[in-house]
Amino acid sequence: MNIQNHIFGPVPSRRLGFSLGLDIVPYKTCSFDCVYCQLGQTTNKTIQRREYVSKQLIIRELKSYLAREHDEIDYITFSGSGEPTLNSKIGEMIQEVKRMTDIPVAVLTNGSLLFKKEVRDELRNADLILPSLNAVTQDTFERVNRPHHGLNIQDIIDGLKKFRKNFDNEIWLEVMLVKGINDNMGEIEQMAGISNEINPDKIQLNTVVRPPCESFAMPVDANQMRKICQMFGQKAEIIAPCARKAMKAYEKDVANKILTLLKRRPCTIDGISNVLGIHRNEVVKYLEVLEEDRRVARRIHKNQTYFVVNKDEMRSM
Ligand code: SF4
Repeated sequence: MNIQNHIFGPVPSRRLGFSLGLDIVPYKTCSFDCVYCQLGQTTNKTIQRREYVSKQLIIRELKSYLAREHDEIDYITFSGSGEPTLNSKIGEMIQEVKRMTDIPVAVLTNGSLLFKKEVRDELRNADLILPSLNAVTQDTFERVNRPHHGLNIQDIIDGLKKFRKNFDNEIWLEVMLVKGINDNMGEIEQMAGISNEINPDKIQLNTVVRPPCESFAMPVDANQMRKICQMFGQKAEIIAPCARKAMKAYEKDVANKILTLLKRRPCTIDGISNVLGIHRNEVVKYLEVLEEDRRVARRIHKNQTYFVVNKDEMRSM
């Protein structure tokens, strides 16, 4: 387990195997406020780019981590507590990381700033870019992503297309589907067409499975997901909840600490993070796995999501 402030993991990721996260914007600094966000509501909705977390600090923490730990890591991932491309030094950080290690570098982005040439240029040295696209009409975009008022979905689509033309490495486009919000067939048909025009290497269909920001953000059911997947064509796949590597010893240790805490009392994500000193994003990843394994469940109380240990788990502890 890593306890530095801006580095978290490695965490088991459904898309990236074991991912070491670099958190380069403060908690919840984002250009969107998605209804399905597992981190909670956006507190600083902005499209202003600046060095929110200093490059020097990130590089120093990563250097010390790599010198100390020898975990198996599939990707070093720029992600974190909001939108990483808001950090104006992301390009320089990617270059520095590439100089330090052979571990591939990935960037998880909502794609909102790819209409800016400087952002497209700054991402060019990454090995893998994972942008998301959850709508193709402004109305649906506003309902699902609740973007900053300065953002327009057509500009974002154009930015994604331009980025693809000049980026030689892999792009895996994520489409997050939320029941009753962006899963109507008209929107899906258009999204399928435009996703293929963007021409990513993969189209990864996802639905709400993590603790979402809004309790009304519900998953699309498995049958519907399969139908939608066919509409997206050959590049599309559903991100399978169980497609993950087995937990390693230290991960079991973290998972057990979370279970022990939840056995004593129900906790929110922030509560677990504060008590155990684990980065919030890391807690989210573990809860995702524990929920899929039906070892924990969530309960809503006074608009807050709490996690509890399932009865069977309680008996086995
Ligand atoms: S899901 Fe990503 S893009 Fe959406 S609000 Fe959360 S951090 Fe921002």
